[in-house]
Order: sequence, then structure tokens, then C-alpha cells
Amino acid sequence: MKRKVTFPHFGDYCIPLEFLVTRGLEMDYVTPPPMTKRTLELGAKYSPDYVCAPFKYNLGSYIEAIECGADMLVQTGGACRLGYYGELHEQILRDLGYRFDFVNLARADYSKPYTLLAEFKKVNPDFSVAKVAAALLSAVKMAECMDRVDDYVRRNIGFEVENGSFEAEKQRFLSDLRRCETKKDVTAAFQQCMDNMKAIPTEKPKKPIKVAIVGEYYTIMDPFSNHNIEREMAKMGMVIERWMNLSNSMFHYPEKEIARKIRGYSKYNMGATSMATIDVALTCAKKGYDGIIHVKSFGCTPEMDSIPVLQNISSDYKIPILYFSFDSQTGDTGIQTRLEAFYDMIVMRKRA
Ligand code: SF4
Repeated sequence: MKRKVTFPHFGDYCIPLEFLVTRGLEMDYVTPPPMTKRTLELGAKYSPDYVCAPFKYNLGSYIEAIECGADMLVQTGGACRLGYYGELHEQILRDLGYRFDFVNLARADYSKPYTLLAEFKKVNPDFSVAKVAAALLSAVKMAECMDRVDDYVRRNIGFEVENGSFEAEKQRFLSDLRRCETKKDVTAAFQQCMDNMKAIPTEKPKKPIKVAIVGEYYTIMDPFSNHNIEREMAKMGMVIERWMNLSNSMFHYPEKEIARKIRGYSKYNMGATSMATIDVALTCAKKGYDGIIHVKSFGCTPEMDSIPVLQNISSDYKIPILYFSFDSQTGDTGIQTRLEAFYDMIVMRKRA
């Protein structure tokens, strides 16, 4: 019997992951249910109290995927203590009595693809390298196209004439992606989506308010974890810029160049996404953006370390920065109030 593979829920990226597992590794895939309050409650209930929120989200997501039939869990690892989370997740889930196989990609070295192949072998010992390679290329293309669509949505959704037009088109695109078989299909679906989006009527002022969003990898990319902050901001009538996404962080992250660009503000790499956070904030400040929003999960040390640097950028370039730290206790109302106050302050500054 085929094993049922799952990854923890991570925004819409479950679509390329499903493609890689089903077409490349030729295994069944269980899409973890969308994140809800229950996911977070489950994760928080069985996690150490002071661990950062992505740990809790991932744990809750594993439990819900197991409930849906998954019996092979995959952990991707990461550039911070996320790399150690796999062992802990596995142990907690085993202590809870669940039965599953656990593949921890943190054991592989992403810069050496053959080490990844060794981990893939644990998912399916008979996998075909050619099929995995072809599926991987299509999955990467999917992630790139999804990121470009999201960029376009963030810049324009705040100005749509008919409420919901961009979201409807994006959902159509995601459904098309689920039906794609090849990289060519992905490119065609993307092109169609972009053509449709460009035809959506908008009323965008000549000089709209521009706000950049920077911060921690997981929180910034997972709308549930950040309380859909981008959409809330965009709805107020702003252009939202976000550099951090899967394709940029994996394929367009010139670490040495970034280190050189931010040297005046930070001499050391403080880990995880901190360098990108500082780099994007500095670039946007230099470009004259109206504000920056920094998001992180509670307890995220790399992003905590970048806050004093952001404060220096804010003071040097006179750009306001709003800081959000999310955990399992954060409520929507406080976020909305702070966003509205931030928006009003930007509008007042612009008028002055
Ligand atoms: S970057 Fe921060 S929040 Fe994300 S997993 Fe690492 S320590 Fe946790």
C-alpha cells in the first residue's frame, strides 16, 4: 500500500509540494487542512511554552494531517532552530501515540542535491531520478509563478473597483495549477492569470501610499499566522511590497551582496531571515517608501536582533516602522487598531 505523505501547512505552497510528491515521487499526498484556531490550539497544547510560533503551527498541522490519513510526515528544516524542530516534533507525536514514518530533510544539505536524493529515497526507495527532477522543475516554476501573482495582487488589490476581483482570479489560477501536468502548463496558466489580472479595473492614484512588509520567513508568508495583515493593509488603499517569498529566498538571495549592502548597519549575519529583513527595509527606506511593517513570531531571536537595526534605519531615513510579534494568544482587534493608526499617521505625514 502506498504511503500517504504530508508536509506541514504553509500558505498555498502545498500545491507545488503535492505536485512533487505525486508526480515526482509517485506517492499519495495528504493536503493538511487549512490552518484554523483548532490547528493552533492543538499545536500550542503539546508544544513547549516558549518555543516560537512556527513550531506550534507545524505540530498542529501534522496532527490534523495524521487525522486525515497521512502516515509519512516530512519536515523541511530551515536556517535557524527550525533545523532542530524535526526531532522534537517526531518525539512529541510518538509520545502522543501516533504511528507514522518521519523524513527529516534538515538532515540533508540543500547545497548538495545528492543529499536530498538520499532523503527522498526514504519516502520512496524506488523513485525515478528523472521523474523527480522533472517534477521538481515544474514545482519550482509553480512556486515562482505563485509568488509573481501574489506580488501583483499585493500592489493592486487595494485599488480594485469591484471588491473580490483579484482574490477570485487568484483562486482560479490556483485551481488551474492543481490541474497542471508539465512546466509548459504552469507557464500557460500563469500567463492567462496575469492577462486576466491586468484587465481587472482599478482606481489607483498616481502616487499611492507604499508600505513594505519585512520579517520572519514563516510568519510573513503564512496569512493565517500573520492574521492576513497584508490584505488588511491593502484594503485601506496601499501598495504593499514584500520581497520575502519562497522563490526569492531560495533562488535569488545573494548573501554576500546583501552583507556588503547592509554593512553600515549590521556587520554580522544574525541568522535566519535577519539579513534580508535589514536589506529590504534599507532599500525601501532609500526609495522613499511611506512606511515599513515588521512581522515576526514571538520568541524569534534572529528577528528580535534585527529590530534595533531597523530602529536605526527608521531614524536615519525618517521612515516609520510598525512592529508586530505574533503568538498563539494574538487577537485580530488589536492588530486592526494598530494598522489603522499607522495608516492615519502615514496619511498625515504625507499631507504635512
Ligand atoms: S526564524 Fe524565528 S520564528 Fe522562524 S523558526 Fe526560526 S526562530 Fe522560529
